[in-house]
Amino acid sequence: MSHTQLLNYINGAWCRSEAGERLPIVNPATAETMATMPLSPAAEVDAAVRAAANAFREWRQTPAGERVQYLFRLKTLLEENLDDIARTITNECGKTYTEAAGEVRRGIENVEVACGIPTLMQGAYSEDIARGIDEILIRQPLGVVAAITPFNFPGMIPLWFLPYALACGNTFVLKPSDKTPMTAQKICGLLAQLGLPQGVVNLVNGAKETVDALLDHPEVRAISFVGSSPVAKYVYSRATANGKRAQCQGGAKNPLIVLPDADLEEVARVAAESAFGCAGQRCLAASLAITVGEATRTFTQAMAEAAVSRRVGYGLDEGIEMGPVIRAESKARIESLIQAGVDEGAKVIVDGRSARIPSYEQGYFLKPTILEAVKPGSQLAQTEIFGPVLGVMAARDIDEAIAIVNRQPYGNMACLFTRSGAAARQFRYEAQVGNLGINVGVAAPMAFFPFCGTKESFFGDLHGQSRDAVEFYTEKKVVVERWLQ
Ligand code: NAD
Repeated sequence: MSHTQLLNYINGAWCRSEAGERLPIVNPATAETMATMPLSPAAEVDAAVRAAANAFREWRQTPAGERVQYLFRLKTLLEENLDDIARTITNECGKTYTEAAGEVRRGIENVEVACGIPTLMQGAYSEDIARGIDEILIRQPLGVVAAITPFNFPGMIPLWFLPYALACGNTFVLKPSDKTPMTAQKICGLLAQLGLPQGVVNLVNGAKETVDALLDHPEVRAISFVGSSPVAKYVYSRATANGKRAQCQGGAKNPLIVLPDADLEEVARVAAESAFGCAGQRCLAASLAITVGEATRTFTQAMAEAAVSRRVGYGLDEGIEMGPVIRAESKARIESLIQAGVDEGAKVIVDGRSARIPSYEQGYFLKPTILEAVKPGSQLAQTEIFGPVLGVMAARDIDEAIAIVNRQPYGNMACLFTRSGAAARQFRYEAQVGNLGINVGVAAPMAFFPFCGTKESFFGDLHGQSRDAVEFYTEKKVVVERWLQ
C-alpha cells in the first residue's frame, strides 16, 4: 500500500526529499501507517538554511508593522482550519480531539502575542547621558533561527517559536518531531498561503542527522529546542559550542503536594486531569502526588475512582477522555517502569496495564495507573514516565513535601493544593521549579508569560513565549551619539 510521502518546504516550494531512508508515521490508536517521513540529509538542511539566509535581508527590512500583518492572517487561517489540524493531531499523536483543539488554541495565543512586536521590540533612548550626548538601545533580528520540536504538542510547540521569530525579523527553519510531523505539514500549508517572501519559513523533516546539520550550520544563529532532557542537554552543548544562542526545554517529573485542608474530592478531579490528560504525555503532567497527613487516604481513594472511570479509546470517538501512548515501545517502557516501582516496594492500586480497547486491539493503550507508597529517591519517584501513571507518597508536613520537590532532578512544574495562604506563600518562595500551580493542576503559562523550567528541565536562560522570546530572537545594540552640527 502506498502512503502519503511527507515533503519538505524550502524556499517557498514543497519538495520531495532525496533521503535514502523514511520513517513510517503511525496512528497510535490503530497502529496503521498513515504516511512516511524522510530523514532529510545535511544537504537539504543546507538548502533550507541558505534559502532562509537569502530571505533575511529583505524580511528584516520589512517594517515590523507589516511583518505582523502576515501573522494576523495566520491567526485567521489557523482558526478556520482548527478542526482539520486538531484531527491530524489526534491521528498522529493519540490525544483526544478536545485536547488537540485546546492545543491549537494555545498555539494561536502565541500568534496573537507576537502581533504586538511593534511595541514589544521597541528599544530605549536616554537623552543627555553626558552633556549633548544621547544613548540608544535598539533590538535587531539575529538572522536564520531554527526550532526542533517534540512529538507531544505538534501544533502548539512550533508556534511557541515561529511567530516571535518571524515578527522580530528573523527567517526560520522548523524541524518537527519524527513521530508527529503531519501537523507541521498542515501548518506549513497555511504559512504557504500567506504570501510570505520565499525562504522566510522553511520546513525540513528528519531526526538526529537532520538536527545535527542544523546545530553545525554556520548560518544558523539560534536554536530553540523542546524534547527530552538528554537530547535537550546534547542540543544545548552542541549548539552553544558552535557559537549559537540556544534555549532547550527538557523533560519533567511533576509533583503535586496535597495538604489535608484542601477540598480533596475537587483536588482529585483536577489531579486526574493533570496525571491522565493527554495520556500523561505532557511535560506539565502530574506524575507524583505528595500527600500530607490525613490527605493520603481520601485523596488516594478519590483518585482511584477517577482513574477507573476514565474512558480510554480512540481520540476522535465520542466521549473518549484519554487516548493511547505514542508508540509500542513507549507502552512497553511505561509498563516496565510500573513493574520497577512494584519491585521497589510501591503498591499498584489501579493497574492500567494489559488494557484492551474493543475495535482498537492493535493500539498502544494503557489505562490510568496509580501506585501508592512510592519511596522518595526510588526510580519511580525520579524517572519521567511520560504515561498515565501517578505515584503517591506521603510526607509528614509541607516542609518535608517541599524538600522532596527540591531533591527532584527536574524543575518543570510543581503544584500545591491547600486553603492556607501561608502554605501557598512558603511553596512559592521555596520550590525550585519553573512553573508553579496553586490549586491548579496544569500550570501552563499563557503566551504573554514565559514558559519557565529549571534544573534538568531547561538549558539556557531566555525561555520561550512572551518578552523572553523577543529577547531571545533579537540582538541588543547600544549607540552612544554626539552631534557637533
Ligand atoms: P525527543 O527528545 O525524543 O525528541 C525531540 C526532538 O529531538 C525531535 O524533533 C527529535 O527528532 C529530535 N531528536 C531525538 N533524538 C535526537 C538526538 N539523539 N539528536 C538530535 N535530535 C534528536 O522528545 P519527544 O519524545 O519527542 O518528546 C517528549 C519529551 O519532550 C518529554 O521528555 C517531555 O517532557 C518533553 N517536553 C518538554 C516540554 C517543556 O516545555 N519542557 C514540552 C513538551 C515536551
